[in-house]
Amino acid sequence: MSVFISGATGFIAKHIIQQLLEQNYKVIGSARSEAKCVDLKQKFNNNPNLYMVVVPDISELDAFDEAFDIHGSEVKYVLHTASPFTFDVTDFEKDLLIPARNGTLGILRSIKKFSSSTVERFVITSSFAAMFDLHNLDNDNITFNEESWNPDDWNSCQRNARAAYCGSKKVAEETAWNFYDNYKSLLKLEMTSVNAVCVFGPQMFDSDVANHLNTSCEYINSALHSTTDKFPPYVSGRYIDVRDVAKAHIYAFQKENTIGKRLILSEGNFNTQDILNYLNEDFSVLKGRICVGTPNDGVEHSSFGAKTDNHKTKEVLGFKFIDLKQTVDDTAVQILKHEGRL
Ligand code: NDP
Repeated sequence: MSVFISGATGFIAKHIIQQLLEQNYKVIGSARSEAKCVDLKQKFNNNPNLYMVVVPDISELDAFDEAFDIHGSEVKYVLHTASPFTFDVTDFEKDLLIPARNGTLGILRSIKKFSSSTVERFVITSSFAAMFDLHNLDNDNITFNEESWNPDDWNSCQRNARAAYCGSKKVAEETAWNFYDNYKSLLKLEMTSVNAVCVFGPQMFDSDVANHLNTSCEYINSALHSTTDKFPPYVSGRYIDVRDVAKAHIYAFQKENTIGKRLILSEGNFNTQDILNYLNEDFSVLKGRICVGTPNDGVEHSSFGAKTDNHKTKEVLGFKFIDLKQTVDDTAVQILKHEGRL
């Protein structure tokens, strides 16, 4: 029996596939084109346990029908990671909300149609963005936890790209839980959602390093390429390493105690100053070349706003997450090596 993973070309998905193959699972990945399928298979050394299928655009509600019609009888676990993660959009419905919602609804409908007796577990890659309230991020009286929901809806989230992305994750996750609740008695599957905060860490393959990285790793990339006279784009939030996110997706379908749960993948808080501090302290090649900022303005020394309580998730998963220094340093090492600077 196989694990089906949508959005197999993604930053997070490639780490999940690597860990699945290490555990000898048969994996069926979906990507948008034949060329992307071939490229990914090559990156995984044409591992015979990795099979790729083309699913061109998840905005189409029947996008997954063909894949599940053909392969559905051999799929036991489904990991739905595909969803647009970018703020570089202007048509929020077309570019964010519709693919996020329809991708989720579509893959669940295809499972119901073709794999209702075989698929046992469904894991959705949701996000902490589906949980927090953008209007209350600075409010230190607020604590977000596994029961929290982003208060925005389809219309209210369309005020800017960041809110629309967060809204798209909320709408997609809500769609999945509603489907699960409505069809639980007809289907065999149990569901878990993985709600990661900002995901850092190395790309799965050194050849994936590019001038511009995926949205979350670009925060480190832009700090690493900052100049002494200009502070890079400021970000503050919570972080988690991609290798832990991948591991959590696998635990999410392997363990019984994850059933029906929303898992918050977060190790702690960070801001751009913390990233600059590690880059300046740990890489002599960057000293005197990148922005130093104000080292005491890292999160340990400044007030942070709303808190996050994910102790329930940590109890369920039972493994220790990678810390900020390691995730920043591992990300930076890979970029610097790729650029021939280490
Ligand atoms: P990537 O952009 O690397 O991966 C996104 C994946 O979704 C890619 O495989 C992409 O395909 C696919 N995709 C996007 N839009 C469509 C579409 N319309 N039709 C078909 N496929 C599509 O980002 P990440 O790996 O970071 O994100 C993966 C998931 O994790 C997303 O659901 C994201 O919301 C979630 N997430 C990410 C966090 C982070 O900090 N990185 C934090 C929390 C959640 P293609 O490669 O062809 O573009």
